[in-house]
Order: sequence, then structure tokens, then C-alpha cells
Amino acid sequence: MINYISSLDISSYHLTRPRSIVLLGSTGSIGTSTLKVIEKHRDLFSVIGLAGARNIELLASQARKFRPEYLAVLNNDLAEKLKKLLPSEYKPHILTGQDGYVELAKLSEADIILSAMVGAAGLAPTMAAVKSGKIILLANKESLVLAGHLIRKYTRASHSIILPVDSEHNAIFQALAGHSFQDACKIVLTASGGPFRGKSKEFLQNVTKAQALAHPNWSMGAKISIDSATMMNKGLEIIEAYHLFGIEPPRIEVLVHPQSIVHSLVAYKDGSFLAHLGIPDMQIPIAYCLAYPDRVTLNLKPLDLTQVGTLTFEPPDEELFPCLRLAKRALEAGPGYMVVLNAANEVAVDLFLRDRINFLQIPEIISRALDQHEGQEIDSLQTILELDARTRQLVISECIRYD
Ligand code: MG
Repeated sequence: MINYISSLDISSYHLTRPRSIVLLGSTGSIGTSTLKVIEKHRDLFSVIGLAGARNIELLASQARKFRPEYLAVLNNDLAEKLKKLLPSEYKPHILTGQDGYVELAKLSEADIILSAMVGAAGLAPTMAAVKSGKIILLANKESLVLAGHLIRKYTRASHSIILPVDSEHNAIFQALAGHSFQDACKIVLTASGGPFRGKSKEFLQNVTKAQALAHPNWSMGAKISIDSATMMNKGLEIIEAYHLFGIEPPRIEVLVHPQSIVHSLVAYKDGSFLAHLGIPDMQIPIAYCLAYPDRVTLNLKPLDLTQVGTLTFEPPDEELFPCLRLAKRALEAGPGYMVVLNAANEVAVDLFLRDRINFLQIPEIISRALDQHEGQEIDSLQTILELDARTRQLVISECIRYD
């Protein structure tokens, strides 16, 4: 049985007037795909805020095109640089740092907040949007991994609506539409298996950053590409599904499907399975959320199943990809462990991207961090951020010692 994270009363929520949108993480992969969708329907969607981190050139070019009233960047230096890249007649408010992102997330003029910042950095703005009762297009899965139980609680209190952008969760959301949630008994998350599916442990020992970043089907940012190669991405998505759909962990299954055409499935009590199919392009789930509950045209390359030919499915290899098991272990153990899992993973991925550790050390580092954690009650954003910082420090100091 499904108990979705937010209310889905759509009777008063059709696309009858233009929607104003704030994009947190506009220069990332999800942000740029979102702007592609908006560009195709500028009569339906208007951009009122764009937030990036360090990629000032791209943020400036997006700002010149969409002319939002608000921009946000990481710090004052970058804000000064950004100003110089904008035409003199255009004078947006430029906000900075975490406070700036949070202010954008609560903007009273905004109908929709896209939460697409990378990693734990997206948590505070997502929480702020939830507490302000916004409609949130959630791409930052780490928010739910770190604070799913709190976000569920705050969503109920503020009547905020969360729509899942992550392709698997979006697929499940679509397969649930129009059905009684009581009748759903299992969800199946599909996984491409990443670039190292079917390889040996010896092979993984020596893989390079470039090999790990080369995803066979999806074009994505660096962090999620490495998560995909270790299959931690699917582990985080199990936790994301648990919080979004309110379904017990044993009813969440992972199935490796290398073609990335079936984006996930819902099993119903009568034996029916409903799946969502499409080409692997994030514009599809993004557009579904932007126009929800209506649909808009995207003019993408159509899915040609005769070209795809064969769809295959296999169980995940948890021996080769222990991150899946680590994520399930953290989910079972409770909220503090999920904070530790996420923080250790972010540090390990960063160290791998900087050639400091090899690929197989990523799960080792996470496993050690989980072993060392003794459990802790997680009741506020503050406790999460403290445990997150403590874990990062611990993992970094240990890695330096092992160097
Ligand atoms: Mg996904």
C-alpha cells in the first residue's frame, strides 16, 4: 500500500495560467534540461529566479535569456563577477550563499520551486520550500535521504506538494495516477547497471575516473554519474522511494534494465504491473512535473521500440556493487545512519574524482563510517547538518591517515 508524501488534490491545479518558477541548481544537468522545456513553452512558464553555484558564465547566459528578477550564487565575489556579465539595463536582485538560496526557495511570487542542487547542499533550501507550502519539483534526492522523515512531517503541516523529477520515481508516480493507492503492493525501480555492469572485481580495482563518468545511456553531472557507476544512486533511490511513497522497504525492488527504456513499475494486488516507458531524456519527467497534472509537447525523438528491439532485465549484483546493500542497511538502521551514508558517500566520490582513492575504496569508506556510527536522534535541520559535517571530517581525516 502506498501513502504518498503529499496531498494530490489536483482538481484546482490545472495549467490554466502561467506558472512562475524558481530554479535552484539552474546550471546543472537537471537545471539546463528544465530550461529547455521552459523555452519550448514560454507562454506557460516564466522563470523568476535562477540559482547556481560557481558556473557564473552559464548562469549569466541563462539570466540574459530568461531575465529573472532574482539570481543567486555561492558568494559575494562570484556575485560581483556575475554583475559584470549582465547587460547594464538589466538589474536583478543578486542573492548569495545558503541564506540566498533559502530566500529564493521561499519567494512569495513563486508557484514552483525546482530543487536540483547537488548533494547535501540542497537540503536547507528544500526544507525552506517545504515549510513555505510550495509546489516542489524534487530532483535533489539527498534531501529525502537526509531528512525524509522530517520532510514528510513538514509537508503535511504546510500542505506543500512534492512532485518527483527523478526518472524512476516520476515513472512510479505516473503509474500510480488514477489508481487506488491501496491496491499497489510493490514498486520496482529499474537501474541501468551503469558503465561497469557485468565486470569483475579485478576490473573495478583499476577503473579510471573517465571510465566511471561515461554512463551508457544518461548524460548527467559528475556526482550522480559516479553514484550510478557504484550503484549508490540506486541505493539512494530506494531510500527516496521509501520516503516519497511511504512503502515498506521489503516492497521496494531493484531490477537492472540496461536499455533504460522502462523507467520503473508499480505492481498491483491483482497481478497487474504498470510501467512507464520513454527514451532516456530528463525533459520528459521534468515536463510532467512542470505541467502536472496536464501534459505539454516536447518534440523529442520518438521512442521506437522496433529500433530498441529487446528489453532485458536481471537482478542487481550486490557482491560487485556493495553500495546497494549499504544503503539498505542505513535505511533499516534509521535516520542518523542515512546522514552518515550520504556524507561518507559524498566525500568518497569527491576523493575518487580527485584521484585520491580507487573505485573499490568508495564502498569501503562508507561501510567503515556506518560501522563507527552509534545512532542518534535526528529531529531538526541543525542536527542533520552537524552530523553531516562531523562525518565528513571523520572520513577525510581517516583517508589522510590511510594515504
Ligand atoms: Mg534516477
